[in-house]
Amino acid sequence: MFESLQDKLNSAFRTLKGKDRISDINVAATTKEVRRALVDADVNFKVAKEITDRIKEKALDRKILISVEPGQMFVKIVQEELTELMGGTAESIDIKGDPAVVLIAGLQGSGKTTFSGKLASMLKKQGRNVLLTACDIYRPAAIEQLKVLGEQIGVEVYSEPENKNAVEIATNAIAHARKTNKKIVIVDTAGRLAVDEVMMQEVEDIKKAVKPTEILFVVDSMTGQDAVNTAKTFNERLNFDGVVLTKLDGDSRGGAALSIRQVVEKPIKFISTGEKMEALDAFHPDRMASRILG
Ligand code: GDP
Repeated sequence: MFESLQDKLNSAFRTLKGKDRISDINVAATTKEVRRALVDADVNFKVAKEITDRIKEKALDRKILISVEPGQMFVKIVQEELTELMGGTAESIDIKGDPAVVLIAGLQGSGKTTFSGKLASMLKKQGRNVLLTACDIYRPAAIEQLKVLGEQIGVEVYSEPENKNAVEIATNAIAHARKTNKKIVIVDTAGRLAVDEVMMQEVEDIKKAVKPTEILFVVDSMTGQDAVNTAKTFNERLNFDGVVLTKLDGDSRGGAALSIRQVVEKPIKFISTGEKMEALDAFHPDRMASRILG
């Protein structure tokens, strides 16, 4: 994960590490390298500039130039700023309600259905009674995919293969959940290859009808800057509560993880790191910053 960014940051720090004296010129040069590493990792340019300006300011302000191990102190500042950039603290999802409704939105192929299964599995392991709902009325295969996952994890999947009205399916699923004493309903919605009006309207209508306690936007981290732009568009329409970054096991350059919070002002809540049902983690900004720095 983020190997290239990690290498570039470490090489930026190399000029400072081990030195017992550094100058403001060293700090300026290193910060510039850090900025270049972030931009190369697909971090939004404005975000990269803001964070490196703060790093420089903090570094000079803390008088690290005369501290015992200035290189280490500099790395610590970068770690703090990366953590802050990604939201500071971990944020969980709201699963209160009778039932609580978690709406999953995003583009096709982003990993929505896989994530829906993973979340259901995670919640089930916590002892919650969960219902999965297949609301993709355009791809029969999507219903089948969710059913297979449901069977695998032992969670019921609600679907109406003949019904072409996603709002109705979602509404009926909630009634079914009440009848069968399910406390959390996860609604997997349809996705398109690009943002389009019909899809947006449909997911907005589902939102209005089922009043979710939590709306999660799922995005493929490999798509870099596009991930951030898609997140912006979905947020404008849905005002979602959190982001799920998928495919972090691939050769994602890291830009989405680092820019989304700042640009969209919504927290990343989960990261997905593989196709298996267990490959899901709550997102912890501090742990991610440590991983990025190696
Ligand atoms: P959806 O169209 O948004 O529902 O996306 P899917 O859940 O069908 O996922 C699309 C593809 O990405 C599938 O082949 C998944 O197995 C795969 N996938 C989903 N999440 C991850 C992940 O975190 N890592 C990897 N490597 N593959 C993933």
